[in-house]
Order: sequence, then structure tokens, then C-alpha cells
Amino acid sequence: MGRYTGPVCRFCRREGIKLFLKGERCYTDKCAFERRPYPPGQHGPHARIKFSDYGIRLREKQKVRRIYGISEQQFRKYFEMADRQKGITGVNLLTLLERRLDNVVYRLGFASSRREARQLVNHGHILVNGRMVDIPSYLVRVGDVVEVKDKSREMDRVKAALEAVARRGVPSWLELDKDRFRGVVKAMPNREELTTPPIQEQLIVELYSK
Ligand code: SF4
Repeated sequence: MGRYTGPVCRFCRREGIKLFLKGERCYTDKCAFERRPYPPGQHGPHARIKFSDYGIRLREKQKVRRIYGISEQQFRKYFEMADRQKGITGVNLLTLLERRLDNVVYRLGFASSRREARQLVNHGHILVNGRMVDIPSYLVRVGDVVEVKDKSREMDRVKAALEAVARRGVPSWLELDKDRFRGVVKAMPNREELTTPPIQEQLIVELYSK
């Protein structure tokens, strides 16, 4: 199945929380969740949903999958990888998702959303250690240098995204050199910094461990 390319604000409304999937719009009063903070669909405004234990776990998984824009199949692969690694499976899972190149491009502020970041990577605008990498799922390692290609630095959306990055801040495991459109992976992603939106990864582990 291909990647979902339809409207994404309904995901925030479905999950009952802002997932920040549309860049700058999410911070304005045009945000669909601010305007209609109830589930999408005919019964949305009157919906009184009571989730089962399974439902709660499923919603948490869907939430995280939607934040990172990942298919069910891919997500399960990440879970299996995380489960094989040493340490806490849920934290391993989030670390893997954070290490994706499209996420790093977003975190560094070269794009205003992960969707936009994915497109930048797909279209060959991003270099890793001086070489073009057009695979959004590429997993960065400590020491990797991620930068916007010379010619692509003039793109308005890249400049605008970099201007706006201060609002959400760059996580401490990445170091941004704004003037040179480049960033360095200084460490592995830090779970403590993943607070917006809040995630309960243990619920995902429980869902898949049944
Ligand atoms: Fe849409 Fe962003 Fe608001 Fe979510 S937070 S509803 S993606 S504008």
C-alpha cells in the first residue's frame, strides 16, 4: 500500500491532540483542531467514545505512526528491530524513528513538517557526509553531517523553515549551524526531549506483544 497523501488534520482530530503535521499552520488559528476539537465525520461533534484497553493501545500506536508518517508495515519492522536491540523496546522504537533522515531534516529546521522534509530528501536536496541521500528512512549515526545542498539553500521554504525553527527548538542531540545550512548528529536521540505531543510508548509495546 502506498503512502497516505490525503488531509492530515483529521488525524489530530481523531487522536484528540495536536500532532503538528502541517508546519506553521499548526501554530495559527487556522489549525483545524483548534477550530473543531472533536473527531472527524458525521458523528464527530456528538461522539462519546469509550475505548477498550486494546483501543487505547491501538490509538497510541496510530498516533506515533501518524506523527512520523509511516506505514503500518514499516512501523512493525521498526518495532521488530527495536525488540531485537538491547534496552527498553519502547525507547528503542522511538530512537529509531527519531534517527530517520526525514525526521532529522525536520528537527534541524530545514523543513517545517516531516512531510515537507521527506519531500526534500526524496528530491535530492539533502546531503549526508557530503553525499546526496534520497532515502527518507536512512538512519543517521552519531557524527553524521546533514546539510542542504548548495543550490537548494535558496529555496524559500527552506529559508522560511529555518527562520521558524526557533519556535520549537533544536534537540540537544543535534547541533545546527544555521548559516551553513548544516547540522551534526552529536549523540543518539534523547527520550526526555520527546514531549510534544506526549507519547506513551509502553502502550505500543503492549499492543504488539499480545
Ligand atoms: Fe492540522 Fe497542524 Fe492543527 Fe494538526 S496541529 S489539526 S496538522 S493544523
